[in-house]
Amino acid sequence: MHPPARGDPSGLSGAHILLADRDDEGAGTAAADALRAQGAACVHTVGSPEAFFEVGEQPPPSAPDWDVAVWDTGLTGSDDGLVAAVTRALRERPDPAETVEPRSRIHMLVVDAHPDDVEIGAGGTIHRRADEGWDVTILTLSHGAGGGDPDERRGEAYRAARAMGARLVMEDLSDGSISDDSHTVRTIERTVAETRPDVVLVHSDSDTHQDHRAVHRATPVACRRVPRVACYQSPSATVAYRPNRFVGLRASDLEAKLSAINEHHSQAASRWYLEEDLLRSTARYWGRFSQARYAEPLEVIRDATPIGYFPADHD
Ligand SMILES: [Zn+2]
Repeated sequence: MHPPARGDPSGLSGAHILLADRDDEGAGTAAADALRAQGAACVHTVGSPEAFFEVGEQPPPSAPDWDVAVWDTGLTGSDDGLVAAVTRALRERPDPAETVEPRSRIHMLVVDAHPDDVEIGAGGTIHRRADEGWDVTILTLSHGAGGGDPDERRGEAYRAARAMGARLVMEDLSDGSISDDSHTVRTIERTVAETRPDVVLVHSDSDTHQDHRAVHRATPVACRRVPRVACYQSPSATVAYRPNRFVGLRASDLEAKLSAINEHHSQAASRWYLEEDLLRSTARYWGRFSQARYAEPLEVIRDATPIGYFPADHD
């Protein structure tokens, strides 16, 4: 990330910018020219959501480390609007100088769309890693208003996070219509900048819920500098979910997961996937792929760490 230049209120001087347009291949070209004319060092444009996510996961040599990634969803209206959106994003990005300090503990960030998703998908893993000394932050992107009273659900989510030994950050995106656009990417980027995770867990793309799929797509873009990203099994995951890593759970991890899920009183009566016998037998089933009696599955979608960097994964 380049430092802002003195006397450059727009922050564009020397900036590396990724621009994407949802609808139209080649759109944003005039905006890119305008940004270059105002001092941007590198403006990389892509013309489809697929290309945006591909670049988010695998930066091309010409745009190795951009300062902001802005997706024109049409709300910006024009090339001028796109330039203004880029300037605003540059202004609002976190100051890296505020977060850089050496640390010895591993930090794991677990992202979900609604309260109770991560408890079901990774509650035992969260408890195990927190108990082993990892810092674990859960980022829940909505208050779950579609499934009950948002205030009640927020309280349940905080109590559940405590039961797993994790810290909870809640954002207020719209339950049921969470998008995978740059607003969601920037929302996730805020917590990524604050926590600097070594590992990120998120929903899988093989999922019938549109919010889960959107969060799955936005997260690797926001976490493009995070070496390890893997997907947990949401309650609405499909049979296409293909785990390739299994985290063994101790009995205490499974009990903590069940305690966390039990905090979601408002959901317990109406959600079949919260039934205790299903949760226990699912953990027992995945145990057959690990060396433990119980396990949670993960689908690794990026692993840029040296082999053996986290030896505790195969237990
Ligand atoms: Zn959900």
